[in-house]
Amino acid sequence: MPERNNNQAAFSFLNYSINNLSGIGDKFQSGFNRLKIYTVKDVIFSFPYRYEALIPETNNEKTILTGTFINSSIVRTHKGKSIYKAIFKADNGYFSCLWVNFNANYPSSLLHAGSLYYMYGTVIKFENVPAIFHPEIINKQDIGKIRSIYTMPAGFSITVYRKAVKEALNKYLNYINETLPKYILDKYNFPNIKDAVKTLHYPETKENVESIAARKHPAYVRFIYEELFYLQLVMQLKRKTYTKGIGIKYNIDKEYLEEINKIMPFKLTKGQKKALLDIFNDMVKNKQMNRLIQGDVGSGKTIIAFISAAVAVHNGYQAVMLAPTEVLAEQHYNNAEKFFSRLNINVCLLTGSVTKKNKEIMKEKLVNGEIDIIIGTHALIEEDVEFQKLGFIIADEQHRFGVHQRKILIDKGYNPDILLMTATPIPRTLAMTLYGDLDVSVIDEMPPGRIPCITKAYRASQITKAFDFVEEILNDKKKGYFIYPLIDESDKLELKAATQSYEEVKKYFSGKKVGLLHGKMKADEKRQLLHDFKYGDMDILVSTTVVEVGVDVPEATVILIENAERFGLSQLHQLRGRVGRNDIQSYCLLIASDKISEYGEKRIKAMLEFKDGFKLAEADLELRGQGDFFGTKQSGIPDLHFTDIIKDIKIIQKVRNDVTDILEEDADLSLKKNNIIYNRLKEMYKDSTSYFGIG
Ligand code: ADP
Ligand code: MG
Repeated sequence: MPERNNNQAAFSFLNYSINNLSGIGDKFQSGFNRLKIYTVKDVIFSFPYRYEALIPETNNEKTILTGTFINSSIVRTHKGKSIYKAIFKADNGYFSCLWVNFNANYPSSLLHAGSLYYMYGTVIKFENVPAIFHPEIINKQDIGKIRSIYTMPAGFSITVYRKAVKEALNKYLNYINETLPKYILDKYNFPNIKDAVKTLHYPETKENVESIAARKHPAYVRFIYEELFYLQLVMQLKRKTYTKGIGIKYNIDKEYLEEINKIMPFKLTKGQKKALLDIFNDMVKNKQMNRLIQGDVGSGKTIIAFISAAVAVHNGYQAVMLAPTEVLAEQHYNNAEKFFSRLNINVCLLTGSVTKKNKEIMKEKLVNGEIDIIIGTHALIEEDVEFQKLGFIIADEQHRFGVHQRKILIDKGYNPDILLMTATPIPRTLAMTLYGDLDVSVIDEMPPGRIPCITKAYRASQITKAFDFVEEILNDKKKGYFIYPLIDESDKLELKAATQSYEEVKKYFSGKKVGLLHGKMKADEKRQLLHDFKYGDMDILVSTTVVEVGVDVPEATVILIENAERFGLSQLHQLRGRVGRNDIQSYCLLIASDKISEYGEKRIKAMLEFKDGFKLAEADLELRGQGDFFGTKQSGIPDLHFTDIIKDIKIIQKVRNDVTDILEEDADLSLKKNNIIYNRLKEMYKDSTSYFGIG
């Protein structure tokens, strides 16, 4: 293998704190830190979010008015405010410039009668002449130039920041290493990284500005490409490490499937059958399975997991099922017990609430193989649980099952098949980008007989109307959820709000049995409550969002969501999926604050319009860009700074093909021409590169 050329000596310069740049003192440093700008390198790579041209054009939002300063006066508004008004004479009449909260020395000290000024800003009408509030006074030589607009901490002057950018580029740009190999730059005619950086900070011409805005300029496309390239590369490398190891070669016994078929409570849908077939096809290969089952809430993913786990056990292996919350782990356990007991398979539940003594007993049984399937939260993996022969892992809501946990398993010496399940409806383009390391099966239909949920929107002031409606439908055995946002479980105020609402709901629905569920409760209490709600005579469950993922109570026919505007669309969709789990008409009532923003309004509208998670996901992407659909950080979806996964689909495809070709030729990136790629990966992922096999 040729020697790796780690040319990173210059990095210390780039890691200089931003307060090495003139004009940025301690006070502003913290402001920039909040914007995640810490080092000069961050400054270099924090590009403008837009540009403005200093041109005297009337169709621009801002423009330059040119005129000779005549005189000034103080005007009083009817609210008693003082305004400093300066009058200018232009070629075609007069205009004024206005300052509110002006300073004794400013602007009067800047203006000299008889001199010509170029005033820049948004033009309005004031006292019937064109006027600019708080104009910027422009130097003549800057007219016609393009300026960059950056995201700034509050109170910080953009002029100072522009100077800092300039200094950072002058002094440190040279230390930036190229991050894409030459043959890629050549293939697409991309500029090198330094030129690309310069162009994005200083596009200089109107044509450049327009083509950057249209996402077409090679300097911009280069960064989209680069961002996707390394993401895709890591995915494909990870995938290679999973598939490199010899996996378990399962036998799919037809007779056993018949046996399972006999105890099935229902017939599988076509989508479920297809997913199961994909899984079986993976299981019979002696490669490790890494498959993601994507299916909307209620599409019936659980049974697929159960059947495949039963097959694994039938082959003499043990299985683990991981759930994101204890509530869900318990629910899975309850269902699993019913299902597996009929197949003579031993299931146990291991969560934080299990006593120490019982834990020890369980661990013992796992080691000696008395337990076939263990269900629990992700903590299970990290506990010192040992297996006799672990062969199959199921992770529900997979995004919380990370590289780290896989590593633990691999270190334990297992090469189990891995089945991931998610209800997060990821649009195809994004799935291509994010799940390059997984095989994906989609369950794209609902079990038969489901009636689409009817969604209604109310304002907070109409809450009694919504309550009346609930009252009307909640008869017989029907049940309802009332959801209150609890953004942070440690937030006492939110908890108080839920408790308060609980009291109100109790009062209003005096004939009904109402329960309160929140994240602060002990697991035991939660379990009891959910049990009462599911099997007992509780009619209404007032809850914070702990019920969000996966809770299955078929009798629940209505869900009322307070402060609906505070939830993301994905979360709202998850919540709505809690109802409509049988053949009775279900309802989702969204209560939004009376002071809802326009954007909040659009999201409520999307909920009314779209029932399908995928459509909703796409609508949401359009509404706010990819950033937030998935509830940000916890989803494990990386930040994409340049890429728009809808608009940049063509680039995504190119990247995918390029990465495949590169790894086909040079699997461990040891060829000289791929040195840059190797170094960049090392820089991005530090020591964890061994996780994906290029250690
Ligand atoms: P999810 O995909 O959201 O995890 P679940 O696995 O919890 O969905 O299934 C939702 C409900 O639908 C459960 O009550 C389950 O028993 C039921 N179900 C699943 N598949 C079918 C089917 N093919 N026919 C009828 N009901 C089904
Ligand atoms: Mg589920």
